[in-house]
Amino acid sequence: MAVAVESALSKGESLAVEAGTGVGKSLAYLIPAALYSIENDCIVAISTETKSLQDQILKKDIALVSEAIGQEVRAHVALGANNYLCKRKYGKIMDRGDFGPEMEKEIDQFVKWERTTETGIRSEYEGFVSGSFWNSIGRESENCLSRNCPNFSSSYYFLEKEKWKKANILIINHHLLASHLAGDFRILPPFQHLVIDEAHSFPEAVGKAFGSELKYELLINLLHYLYHPEKKTGFASKLPDKKKDIVADAIQKAESYASDFFRLLFSEIPMNFQFSFRHTARIKADDGALEDSLYDLSEICLGMLEKYKKDSDDNDEKEIALALEMVGTQTKKAAAFVEEFRTKKNSNLVFWIEAPNQTAKDRYYHLYSQPKNTEEILSKSLFPNMESVVMTSATLSPTPGNFQYFLKEIGTKDVQTKTLASPFAYNTHSVLFVPKQVADPVSDPRRNKIDVSFWVEKLINLSKGDAFVLFTSNKLLNEVYEDLVDKLDFPLFSQVHLGPIQAKREFMQTSQSVLFGVSSFWQGIDIKGDKLRNVIITKLPFQVPTEPVLQAKMEDMEKEGKSPFWEMQVPKTCLLLRQGFGRLIRSSFDTGMVSILDPRVHTKSYGKNVIQSLPKGVPVVTEFPDLERKFNNLPKMKV
Ligand code: SF4
Repeated sequence: MAVAVESALSKGESLAVEAGTGVGKSLAYLIPAALYSIENDCIVAISTETKSLQDQILKKDIALVSEAIGQEVRAHVALGANNYLCKRKYGKIMDRGDFGPEMEKEIDQFVKWERTTETGIRSEYEGFVSGSFWNSIGRESENCLSRNCPNFSSSYYFLEKEKWKKANILIINHHLLASHLAGDFRILPPFQHLVIDEAHSFPEAVGKAFGSELKYELLINLLHYLYHPEKKTGFASKLPDKKKDIVADAIQKAESYASDFFRLLFSEIPMNFQFSFRHTARIKADDGALEDSLYDLSEICLGMLEKYKKDSDDNDEKEIALALEMVGTQTKKAAAFVEEFRTKKNSNLVFWIEAPNQTAKDRYYHLYSQPKNTEEILSKSLFPNMESVVMTSATLSPTPGNFQYFLKEIGTKDVQTKTLASPFAYNTHSVLFVPKQVADPVSDPRRNKIDVSFWVEKLINLSKGDAFVLFTSNKLLNEVYEDLVDKLDFPLFSQVHLGPIQAKREFMQTSQSVLFGVSSFWQGIDIKGDKLRNVIITKLPFQVPTEPVLQAKMEDMEKEGKSPFWEMQVPKTCLLLRQGFGRLIRSSFDTGMVSILDPRVHTKSYGKNVIQSLPKGVPVVTEFPDLERKFNNLPKMKV
């Protein structure tokens, strides 16, 4: 893999490598990337999905790479803007003593940290910080005075940015990379060589970064930031009367049209949807009044920038100019979003609605849009702007070596591909159990739940805890949890009850425990040794066909005469299943069993695709006594 990566970087080619668990892929790309960077005096960016992989690269791998090549490798992590404390906003909040009741007891400790931190990065603070407090002090790209800021020379964000420019290896995450693409390459320092690890999840991050959303509550907060007509507060209150009246009038209009627009949506769209409601029709009841009022307000704000300058010597004028620019830019974006949402003219976008939290402030639908085809975005914005892109993951394909699905998602065919099987002995160290006596989860969900509970109990008793039970829905997780929590002799921790971080921590700290998890536990969790010897997959992880973007893609495929089920849903399910299966064997000493409690592996034609997607040579059993025998005969760990 290292040779292939070196060749791709030096020839300016792109490469996709599926490298099974245990291949050592991070060192295999870091060593050639570091050498290339040092020899050519350029940045090589490495993007990951998970923080755990970033930590591994920074805290462990880079030292090994430096030692291996006999040269110091400068590596730096770049985070999204909101992770950095903004000294200007922080100063204002502290001057006002306005840090909120939930921070009352914590503020002294936080102030001490702020005086000593070199980076101002939120995650480096070990105490408690409330979300609203951090929002009031975290950097916002549109609310930053940049070079015109009195704090510029000591600004955490800009000091960190200087370090990014000097890095050989710049470690970023998929979300930041996708935002960098969406932001016309203005966020990160220039680089032409990129490695995307955990690349299977990158297209989804791109969809989110190129998407938009609008919430009534946030829109009103934005308007009131400039001027609150009732309280007569906000930056516009500092304007001369004539100008203030113009702004106040425009804000009142926008506010009133916003509440009309969001109320109209209630009458047009039923409340009885479960998670999201895809919105495809033109909104008839509105004639564009909201977007017009937002465009007008934007024009007024941006027009006033002729008079109010961010580079003024007067601090008040700077602040007014920044507020005008921020509100002007954001209302223009909001207006464009409302127009697209209302008219549905852009057929490349998928629109949907999600229910509000039903609080006094958050009472209207949340509106979203996302591009349907991330492949088009990537083929136009990523590959033409990079000399070389190396994409890798333990699971890039639904069946080993079949890159078709991934290359379509990523938007290019101009890529060398390579498959490296895991060196682990799955044939002797693992066993796959697929019982036939389980009711179909679609045609008989009630009986299926009973059967799943039965098998989960039996399997946990066989391994004596130390098990992961993976679900595809909170509902089934809760039902099985309720069934078993008092029956089992082993402690159960549920992601739904405790959240993912606490559930994992409790699981790791408690012997013979069991973790019930949903989506985030299917991938990226790395637990070596006897702590995890039993992975139970309760249902094949088919994506919900009512998910708006998936639904739109499926419709397009049908129109083209393709089968979305076979060309999209089955491959995606196999890919997720491979990731779930991959939780079991994380080192050459690991042993254990994986069970798939979904009878469709036996009864449906795609069942064979499912089995083929799993590591070669894994013994498959369907009867419990066979499983018991094989599991008890697996080699014992010797570390
Ligand atoms: S430069 Fe921007 S981020 Fe830094 S302190 Fe000033 S306003 Fe905040």
